[in-house]
Amino acid sequence: MSQYPELTAAQLKEESGRLKKEYKAIAAKGMKLDLSRGKPDHTQLEISNGLLNALTDTAAIFAEDGTDCGNYGMLEGIPEARRLMAGMLDVNPDEVFVGGNSSLNMMHDCLGIAYLHGLPSSPAPWCKLPRVKWLCPAPGYDRHFMVTEHYGIEMIMVPMTPTGPDMDLVEELVAADSAIKGMWCIPKYSNPTGVTYSPETVRRLAALRPAAPDFLIFWDNAYAVHDLHPDEPDELISLTDCLREAGNPNMALLFTSTSKVTFPGSGIAAMAASKENLSYFLRHFSFQTISYDKLNQLRHARFFGDIGGMRRHMRSHAGFLAPKFQVVLDTLQKQLGGLGVAEWNTPRGGYFISLNTLEGCAKRTVELCKAAGVTLTPAGATFPYGADPLDRNIRIAPTYATPEDARTAAELLGLCIKLASAEKLLGRCVRSRAS
Ligand code: PMP
Repeated sequence: MSQYPELTAAQLKEESGRLKKEYKAIAAKGMKLDLSRGKPDHTQLEISNGLLNALTDTAAIFAEDGTDCGNYGMLEGIPEARRLMAGMLDVNPDEVFVGGNSSLNMMHDCLGIAYLHGLPSSPAPWCKLPRVKWLCPAPGYDRHFMVTEHYGIEMIMVPMTPTGPDMDLVEELVAADSAIKGMWCIPKYSNPTGVTYSPETVRRLAALRPAAPDFLIFWDNAYAVHDLHPDEPDELISLTDCLREAGNPNMALLFTSTSKVTFPGSGIAAMAASKENLSYFLRHFSFQTISYDKLNQLRHARFFGDIGGMRRHMRSHAGFLAPKFQVVLDTLQKQLGGLGVAEWNTPRGGYFISLNTLEGCAKRTVELCKAAGVTLTPAGATFPYGADPLDRNIRIAPTYATPEDARTAAELLGLCIKLASAEKLLGRCVRSRAS
């Protein structure tokens, strides 16, 4: 079949009639599948069950430095957990703070602290300023955008490219506007584009010369060890080294967690920063808690031993995940290849496939899928304010479904993209004939 955009109105009409029939037959099956959130499936969770028995008696709950993990204390985290998470973040253990169960929680709280109290380099707390702005590479992570929106921060979209955010634009914007106080970054296997920032992007970010003296990069390395091809992982160069070289040691906070390594919601989260920033934020955290869950930190440290143990564990995850990604990619290719109606990435890690439809077709596609029983992340969610200016991007999360369900859902998605595209193109033909 020719590319859809080249079809005549009559051909499009015929094609859309055929697709509608096919769609109705599938919708009548009443299926119920969900590809909306990036979650491990239950078999993946089971490989972490050893955590549940990692601490067997009260004699075993002392950290390597003698800290009693059953008691208050050690706000910054126990040494073996700091070492483990330093391995994930590619920093020194003394630059790491291990907190509770969620890195998103940490990011939210760090932003809240800067908002209410400012940073050591802030002329004023951000809440006292008439406007605070934030750079949001997009497509990006919806929950990041919700955090900045929640604080009333004005979000500025920066397009993602295959090497990371559009750096020409980032450099220009931060240099020109002191109201721009920060930026979201997901540097490895980005959510949802799968992009790993190139060395040049990391160096340019580290060397930014923002007009705001308290500009802060939120470097969310959520997928640091989530390679789908562990023998050929993407390499991310060290932001911390680049910041030091560029004379900007305080310009970033690094985050990660074991949410998609062990148990989402019951893992451990960590943050790395310069000594100055770490002690500043720890002082603020000390007002909100006496100490975090060190038993869980100890469990994780004992279960993995070291970062090598975690990497071996991640190989097992890749074994579960790679076939699901492949099934979805193969199905999309089979359904949509050569039709000129969609393009998508082939991720090498992380939890998502990012797909772009023709302009103006993403919302309709997601709506059609939903009505036929497949839930996707809402169209637009990958952009600030939930608004995709071109209405093109769809995030696919193939991890939670079985491979069979992932195939069925991808087949329906392909069909819905074709139907939405045929409708859109037909509408254009009718409008151009009328004008
Ligand atoms: N950051 C990114 C980029 C994510 O994709 C996710 C999970 N979907 C999170 C953070 C959430 O991490 P946590 O469970 O540690 O809060």
